[in-house]
Amino acid sequence: MTVTPEREKALLDSVPTGLLIDGEWRDASSGKTLDVHDPATGKVLVSIQDANSEDAMAALDAADRAQKSWALTAPRERAEILRRGFELIQERAEDFALLMTLEMGKPLAEARGEVAYGNEFLRWFSEETVRHYGRYFTSPEGKNKMLVQHKPVGPSLLITPWNFPLAMATRKVGPAIAAGCTMVLKPAKLTPLTSLLFAQVMQEAGLPKGVLNVVAGSSASAISGPLMKDRRLRKVSFTGSTPVGVRLMKDAAENVLRTSMELGGNAPFIVFEDADLDAAVEGAMAAKLRNMGEACTAANRFLVHESVADEFTKKFAAAMEKLKPVRGTEPDSTLGPIVDEGAREDIHALVTEAVGAGAEVVTGGDKVPGDGYFYQPTVLKVENDCPILGQEIFGPVAPVTTFATEEEAIDLANSTEYGLASYLYTRDYNRMFRVSEQIEFGLVGFNAGVISNASAPFGGVKQSGLGREGGAEGIEEYTTVQYIGIADPYAAKRD
Ligand code: NAD
Repeated sequence: MTVTPEREKALLDSVPTGLLIDGEWRDASSGKTLDVHDPATGKVLVSIQDANSEDAMAALDAADRAQKSWALTAPRERAEILRRGFELIQERAEDFALLMTLEMGKPLAEARGEVAYGNEFLRWFSEETVRHYGRYFTSPEGKNKMLVQHKPVGPSLLITPWNFPLAMATRKVGPAIAAGCTMVLKPAKLTPLTSLLFAQVMQEAGLPKGVLNVVAGSSASAISGPLMKDRRLRKVSFTGSTPVGVRLMKDAAENVLRTSMELGGNAPFIVFEDADLDAAVEGAMAAKLRNMGEACTAANRFLVHESVADEFTKKFAAAMEKLKPVRGTEPDSTLGPIVDEGAREDIHALVTEAVGAGAEVVTGGDKVPGDGYFYQPTVLKVENDCPILGQEIFGPVAPVTTFATEEEAIDLANSTEYGLASYLYTRDYNRMFRVSEQIEFGLVGFNAGVISNASAPFGGVKQSGLGREGGAEGIEEYTTVQYIGIADPYAAKRD
């Protein structure tokens, strides 16, 4: 059923548009507002308060004030707040899904998938909160007892991108709550509404004032800059592009801030000659088209064995041609718009450059005319030196190239500065182990096109980042280790 304009309006009217500071929704001190657009129509959905440096500092003041008592809360108390947050989001899953479709563009079915995925971080970390253990042991020479405990790292700045508005926030806020850290969350200016609704839900779930503060604004550096210079801030967790991550790491160096960096990707999707080709095409569609290709895990380079490349490409292009690029609120939408005009222009420039360098357009290759920022699902046949293989495409464009040997496939896969996701399609489990051993990526999908999961450590190597989100590792990003050496009164008996 198509979503009615009345339903959209009722939802947008119910979403907070202020800054959440110290448990209160406030107006920006500048008096300015920021418009949030629908990428399927280009129209303004709603205006929100536009935070500046002063508001950011007020948010840090609140986080700093709340840190001491928050760190002392019982793990069970934090676990139950997370669990209540999970349940409230489940109850309002349709609101969250529609809101993401409106501000980001993804089809409703996909947005529902993100609610389920993103919300799992709250459930997962509610469970991790009470099972996060330290160590107690006797030192090797027997003189001391050794106590190792984990403490919250302290007030944390969380910066999220626009592409997964809920999941990128829960993936940081969940473990920060679990560990006992207070936060300043800065969502992306293109998609701040989901974070504002999420923060409201967490207040309802019982999060004490000042623990989670949210400041959205038109100037990211006006918010992050002064916070990162302030010694009360102890950590920055960033998800976004590699150039911005590098800049933040340089800023973080000044105060020796803890950092977690989830950065860009350039995922290879390798199809070996023994792969189940239908399964590979299905996986390719998921790995390429999820989020219209606007995902750090998106398959960016299709490396296909030369003996099966024609068949794979034909089937892949046929599947792409079946996609329906219409507004995500339409029931038959299978491909939403690109997030804004600039991003669509960037994608088209990459395709035009590839064609200029000799790429053959198998299907698509252009913008969809009309309202919004839609781009045609595109398959290109390219040579191994085509410039598009070196860029993060962030759109529904799939360059396919070939290889002759396993060694060549591995070399091609590794020939990038990025190291986030990778995908292998083969029936040979020995090959799965052999190739995984040699490819330099933090994530490997084996005969699987989507592998993100709250229980898994998500993160990259090389210029794709530092640290892991999710899994047992996720909470460690928000803790610091303290070791207490205790003189052992029985040590003399051992001499
Ligand atoms: P971006 O780097 O432009 O922005 C990300 C966030 O950083 C936004 O909130 C933005 O406002 C903020 N920002 C921008 N400039 C800043 C500055 N100078 N100081 C402080 N903050 C600043 O990225 P984007 O376009 O929003 O997202 C797309 C990128 O994110 C892609 O490269 C994608 O691969 C990456 N990404 C990575 C992961 C991951 O887990 N590794 C997940 C999603 C997206």
